[in-house]
Amino acid sequence: MTKNEIEKIYKLVKEYHEKYLKSHGVHLPNLKRDGSYTKDALVLVCLAKGYPETAIVTKAELTKFLKRYGGSIDVQQARHLAAQKGWYILSGKRGDADSGLKTGEYKLKTLEEPYPGFNAEKRTTDLTEDEWKNIKNRYGYRCACCGSKEGEKHLLWPNTITELQKGHMDPSKPLQKGNVIPQCSKCNQPDLNNWVYDKKGRVIKIANPNVVKNSSVQVQREIYEILKKKFESTEGE
Ligand SMILES: [Zn+2]
Repeated sequence: MTKNEIEKIYKLVKEYHEKYLKSHGVHLPNLKRDGSYTKDALVLVCLAKGYPETAIVTKAELTKFLKRYGGSIDVQQARHLAAQKGWYILSGKRGDADSGLKTGEYKLKTLEEPYPGFNAEKRTTDLTEDEWKNIKNRYGYRCACCGSKEGEKHLLWPNTITELQKGHMDPSKPLQKGNVIPQCSKCNQPDLNNWVYDKKGRVIKIANPNVVKNSSVQVQREIYEILKKKFESTEGE
């Protein structure tokens, strides 16, 4: 895609946003900040190409596109644009059952409706840049889970420069104040939304029951006993 095309597609997105989405509280990202493209705008442009005949875009393609024009990338960007900002982007992972998409695939469904269930109230509780900076500062600009420091070599992947992302403490709740810890991109893999963390980045709960299946038979049996006791004793109450 040429820069000209990027500008053109962005302009189209902007027109639709003005007409259909703005009134719902959907947020249109700026195309550029400090002279370079913003990640959110690039994701939208990439997904809106050919609108209304949009294509399915894989995470790998999206990553490549962002790298080419944006520098650093954030694999959660497309899902974030949908759930937090209201763009009607289907993803194969979030459980858009009818989407027909595979894991790691995204598709812009329409620019004429916001994402189903999008609640603009939620958006207003999104962290501001300042709040996010304060949180990082409180953690000494380190990942709450592995301690890698922003901008420095990752402690466990020395070839990776640590980039801090907003990590959910509880992945079932929105990414807002009180539910955010800084996590490096390694600790914040969206595929690993298995745990609930406390403020110190320690795992305190299971967020995805499927992780039980990865546990040893011994542990599974113990869990079974606990649950059996719990639910059988409350039955008939
Ligand atoms: Zn980490």
